[in-house]
Amino acid sequence: MNNLMERFKLLKDNRRISLESRAKYVSLDVDLFLMIMSGFYTVFYLTKGIWFLSIFCGITFIIYLIFLWLLEDHYDGWVNTCFISILIFTIVNTLFAGWQAGFQNFLFSEVVAIFLPNIRKNSNVGKIFSFATFFAITYFVLFILFLNNIDFTYLFPAEGLNRLYIINTVATFFTIMMFAFVYSTHSERRLNELSRRADFDELTKLYNRYAINQMLETYIEEYNERHKPFSVAILDIDFFKKVNDTYGHNAGDDVLKGVAKILKKYTKTGSTVGRWGGEEFIIIAPPNIETHKFVRDLDTIRKYINSGEFVSNGQRIGVTVSIGVDRYREGWGAKEIVDAADKNLYRAKETGRNKIVY
Ligand code: GH3
Ligand code: MG
Ligand code: MG
Repeated sequence: MNNLMERFKLLKDNRRISLESRAKYVSLDVDLFLMIMSGFYTVFYLTKGIWFLSIFCGITFIIYLIFLWLLEDHYDGWVNTCFISILIFTIVNTLFAGWQAGFQNFLFSEVVAIFLPNIRKNSNVGKIFSFATFFAITYFVLFILFLNNIDFTYLFPAEGLNRLYIINTVATFFTIMMFAFVYSTHSERRLNELSRRADFDELTKLYNRYAINQMLETYIEEYNERHKPFSVAILDIDFFKKVNDTYGHNAGDDVLKGVAKILKKYTKTGSTVGRWGGEEFIIIAPPNIETHKFVRDLDTIRKYINSGEFVSNGQRIGVTVSIGVDRYREGWGAKEIVDAADKNLYRAKETGRNKIVY
């Protein structure tokens, strides 16, 4: 029960960014990280007076800087560039600073980079396996080159190598951490966004029928443990077809949104409000709210809706609502308790509308 509540809360709090722009949003973190890294090495080589590598890292820095600006429009290009630039960065630095400098370890971070949203999206297991194999081969080719003393390490002073090795190892750890962090954050937010879409009604932002059914199941499970019944109300707008016919469908939508807002605002804390169908809403009261209290509160809401007006596009629209309420009984499923409330709603409609029957 608490888990479910927590999950719903999490969904509500989650920032509303579209799935598509989320990928771009998290890549900003990667880009910034890689830019700082290249910037660091540019300055590092500069202080050592190694111009060639300093200029090389400076160029990488500028590429990331440009992408930081353009990321919105060139996302795919960025992912590929990021991927390739780390590879070139690693190979060039390893060749020119030597095996003892430890740049080759950055190849390990590339394996994690495979799982960046866009690269992963277009990859199957075979492709991922090929990527990993390619990096392993690159690693060993570099190793063999150094075993055979084919390198250009005269560029780097031998006495600084140990320190550089430590710096590079730490940087590798953080690069791997950063990629893994970005990937998991992206997946988590994506999952949250999908769950939100699955659980909420787009128009009214209330829980949809699916989420409400899950909630009912949870309440029923809880009843089986503690034998404390909960109450359910179905609220239906009276003559809503007429609202649509008179003021138009958009105005009808505005009324639905208005009713949803009132329900959310005035139902007691602990109660759950959802959109059950077209112009039908459902309110579930937990066991600690007595049915007569629940009915009294709902009747206050009914009167409030009756006495006010909704405004849509300058038009003032008055509506009334009918409500049916019932309390859960032993042995019922989700369908039975809703049917029972629905039956009372039907009686409210039959006996004049704008009333509550329980
Ligand atoms: P009653 O008092 O018996 O409930 O009458 P009613 O007109 O409210 O009931 P009926 O079931 O005949 O009509 C419901 C109307 O609700 C029909 C449908 O066009 C409208 N409706 C359902 N969903 C939406 C929606 O999302 N937006 C709008 N604007 N109208 C909707
Ligand atoms: Mg209806
Ligand atoms: Mg109706």
